[in-house]
Amino acid sequence: MIQQVKPASACADCRLCSRGQVCAPDNGSPDIDEIVQEVIRRVRPGPTPLVGVPVGVSARHCHVNRESMDILFGPGSELTPFRHLYQPGAFAANEYISVVGPRLRAIERVRILGPMRDYDQVELARTDSIYLGLQDPPVRDSGDLDDALPVTFIGPKGAVTVHAAIRATRHIHLSPDDTVRMGVDGRSEVCVRVDGEKGLVFENVRLKVDESFIPEIHLDTDDANAAGLACGDTVRIEP
Ligand SMILES: [Zn+2]
Repeated sequence: MIQQVKPASACADCRLCSRGQVCAPDNGSPDIDEIVQEVIRRVRPGPTPLVGVPVGVSARHCHVNRESMDILFGPGSELTPFRHLYQPGAFAANEYISVVGPRLRAIERVRILGPMRDYDQVELARTDSIYLGLQDPPVRDSGDLDDALPVTFIGPKGAVTVHAAIRATRHIHLSPDDTVRMGVDGRSEVCVRVDGEKGLVFENVRLKVDESFIPEIHLDTDDANAAGLACGDTVRIEP
């Protein structure tokens, strides 16, 4: 049985790769992606060390709470899955909003990632925040919004101004077994090396550990583009 698990932000809509699959219409049967993910979990190699961590590029995206959903899309509206994401339970929704900042420019069609959260948040790359006129949104974990910058979300039914803009901390999703296998158990942060023509080392990469997680590093588009990475590439954790 597939359990509902904590959502993780993940690649939303970068179109640089073919990893995500468009969701089939809900016909009551299990989604093929969920089945594949369950199989991956069950056949995950035992003692063999994982050599690389797959990359998930997180294009700018947002999360909304119930109250904002009512304002943006109408009372009682729900997010509908467009595509399931690599981390179990997370999905890119069919629903978009526009995000407006102090320069009165809008970033249009910012994908909402579901399920619905208990907070409003938009995760931007620095390039996005410059376009909007935001002075460097803080680099934060998802949900840590104490000093997030104000922006206006615009939906088809209404608008709401919220302290919601952050740049996401670089992070890697791992299960507890993965941390042992990769020799990083007990650590909260690592450095990650990227090979290739645009190779570099990412520092301050936070480890997020949960039984439900599948190994994946989440980078924003600025970081990924600087290193020439796309979804499905792999990187190495520095010893
Ligand atoms: Zn993530």
